[in-house]
Amino acid sequence: MRESLRRASVPARRQLITRLLRNASLAVLGLAGGAVAVKRRRLLREGKCLNQGGCRDCGVFGDCGLPRALSTRSVLARIRDGQ
Ligand code: SF4
Repeated sequence: MRESLRRASVPARRQLITRLLRNASLAVLGLAGGAVAVKRRRLLREGKCLNQGGCRDCGVFGDCGLPRALSTRSVLARIRDGQ
């Protein structure tokens, strides 16, 4: 690898380094996204709220089974039905 890098031209080395950095940053972003998704799933499984009770703006409102979300859905359904 070192010998091939030494022989490579400067633009080729730059391109290689750029690609390596780009791929490394994409990998880091992917891992960070995966970690956030796993953490959200774990918190929901443990019964902890992700959004400190702001259910209507929460990204998981449709699937959330926490009491506050169930209550909010019930209230919204009653409002929609005009009760
Ligand atoms: S939907 Fe509501 S209760 Fe569920 S995680 Fe989001 S904010 Fe918390």
